[in-house]
Amino acid sequence: MWIRLAAERVTAEADRLTALDAAIGDGDHGHNLERGFAAAVAALPELPEGMPPGKVLVAAGRAIISKTGGASGPLYGTALRRAGKALGEAGEIDAAGLGAALRAALEGVQELGKAVEGDKTLVDALGPAVAAYESTLTAGGDLAACTRAAADAAREGAEATIPLQARKGRASYLGERSVGHMDPGASSTTLILEALADAV
Ligand code: ADP
Ligand code: MG
Repeated sequence: MWIRLAAERVTAEADRLTALDAAIGDGDHGHNLERGFAAAVAALPELPEGMPPGKVLVAAGRAIISKTGGASGPLYGTALRRAGKALGEAGEIDAAGLGAALRAALEGVQELGKAVEGDKTLVDALGPAVAAYESTLTAGGDLAACTRAAADAAREGAEATIPLQARKGRASYLGERSVGHMDPGASSTTLILEALADAV
């Protein structure tokens, strides 16, 4: 299941994510997310058997919001909750449904954080990922092709944050000194979308 795999990846990379955040933030991103995803995984066994995936995501998002410190907790939690709401009661997830869920997640993140692409945030990974997902879907791609395209676009988007100057979040306090480092949230978003592609 995707949430467990995402939690494993975040835990495995927590030190690297925290090191990225130490360069342009306060050095807690990896461990914030590790705690949040651990809370999401811990919430899973409490859920009723056979709950539709959308409802599971809403519950996971709620757990992340309640247990994750920093700016990223509410952002990731909102992303999961919005994605879950978009999936609704569907028992099976198809490529179009997951695309709509990812689009809803991006919208939720942007409503809450007000970041646009180029601000050096996780939107620089999630935005291109959603766009790549949708264009792959339009070209006839299946769930595997769409999620892989999203993960690849996220990775490219995260790499492209390196030369940017941060305009949102804690890294923006550094001004020009934020240039030359990858945004930690864009990097964690990449991990999570890679976990999604692998889980599919
Ligand atoms: P904090 O900055 O509070 O310590 P984290 O270190 O957990 O929180 O998360 C930092 C990440 O959150 C950044 O790398 C960035 O990707 C993301 N972020 C911060 N502010 C915003 C925002 N307004 N919109 C989108 N993402 C943001
Ligand atoms: Mg931080």
